[in-house]
Amino acid sequence: MTVRVVVSKEVAPGERRVALTPDVIGRLGTAGVAVVVEAGAGRDAGYPDSDYDKAGATVVAAGSGLDQADVLACVGLPALGALRAGQAVVGLLQPLLHPETMADLAAREVTVVSLDGLPRTLPRAQAMDALSSQANAAGYKAVLVAAEHFGRYFPLLITAAGTSKPAEVLVLGAGVAGLQAIGTARRLGAVVRAYDVRPAARDEVRSLGAQYVELASVGPAAGEGGYARQLTPEEAAAQRAELAGHIARHDIVITTAQVPGRRPPELVSAEATAAMRPGSVVVDMGASGLGGNVAGSVPGEVVVTPGGVTIVGAPDLASRLATSASAAYARNLSALLSHLVVDGELRVDLDDEITAGVVVAHRGELVHPATAALLGRPAPKEATA
Ligand code: NAD
Repeated sequence: MTVRVVVSKEVAPGERRVALTPDVIGRLGTAGVAVVVEAGAGRDAGYPDSDYDKAGATVVAAGSGLDQADVLACVGLPALGALRAGQAVVGLLQPLLHPETMADLAAREVTVVSLDGLPRTLPRAQAMDALSSQANAAGYKAVLVAAEHFGRYFPLLITAAGTSKPAEVLVLGAGVAGLQAIGTARRLGAVVRAYDVRPAARDEVRSLGAQYVELASVGPAAGEGGYARQLTPEEAAAQRAELAGHIARHDIVITTAQVPGRRPPELVSAEATAAMRPGSVVVDMGASGLGGNVAGSVPGEVVVTPGGVTIVGAPDLASRLATSASAAYARNLSALLSHLVVDGELRVDLDDEITAGVVVAHRGELVHPATAALLGRPAPKEATA
């Protein structure tokens, strides 16, 4: 027996990534997973149909794969209408931002598996950590986007035509994406400083050769599971005010701050960008429909302030590095599928820590406590399939 997994083209506007790439098809076959790829699914990520075919996947016409599938593999939320009872959908589905959709899928007896809920610190889960792989891609790309909009060199350059000072880069939020941005900006030759509310970030920032910015007005704010907690309104206001002075002294600011399940904290006020030098660039990785880290940033748009500061609202940076981001995502997803498929069947064992973290809905129930809680539902009962 095999589990049939279908990959179709992502539906979010501008999304270039694909859920599975040709190099994982063989490994999935060994794990009892047969992959069906809808024509054109990987084209925007640099993976033509012929490569899937050569790797052993079945390529079918666009829109025709779901009929024959047990599982729909995707990156972001797919078109959900065609999913039917007994099928599963696996992706980075952000259940905490879409609890009603999750409840609807549960009611339709679709099994929902989302990589957002993976217990990331568990060593055996690390190969499945799509949040980290995508944050790495996004953090790297953020620096390239900043460099593209910046009119000066990043490194110190001494030439016959004069000396160019190195760019000064400030990274706000030093999680996976922030640390990758620090490393990338350093490799381009910038002087880099960084700040995060989690005290553990200080040593990580310094180990990458960047300077850590200390704020006097905000104490440590580590939350659960290694994440930051949401600051109180008073703490957030004090943080914004103190950060403004640091922001004004930098040429480039890259913001990556997130708090799971919450709107991203606003770290850069309009006053702060107004005080930056003309030609400075701010890249807001936290920009989303929920708001961003930077006042005035617009997701997917480049805004130039009256003071000549470019603000890039960039929620889609991993998608803009689609080949590498898809390759990493496909390895994460194939590791998860290999974990969930036992003897040619998808097994949902909620006693398993990894499975319990990622399964949001199963057998008609919303089994993910955090998503259920958002809808005011009681904690779901333990269930083993
Ligand atoms: P994230 O995307 O949730 O947030 C990005 C960063 O924003 C975090 O570092 C967070 O502390 C910071 N932040 C939030 N609010 C802020 C504020 N008001 N001001 C400044 N910074 C703020 O985080 P992430 O990149 O997913 O990483 C979260 C944690 O998980 C980190 O501790 C990371 O080291 C850890 N992690 C561990 C593993 C592992 O053990 N294998 C893997 C991945 C991540």
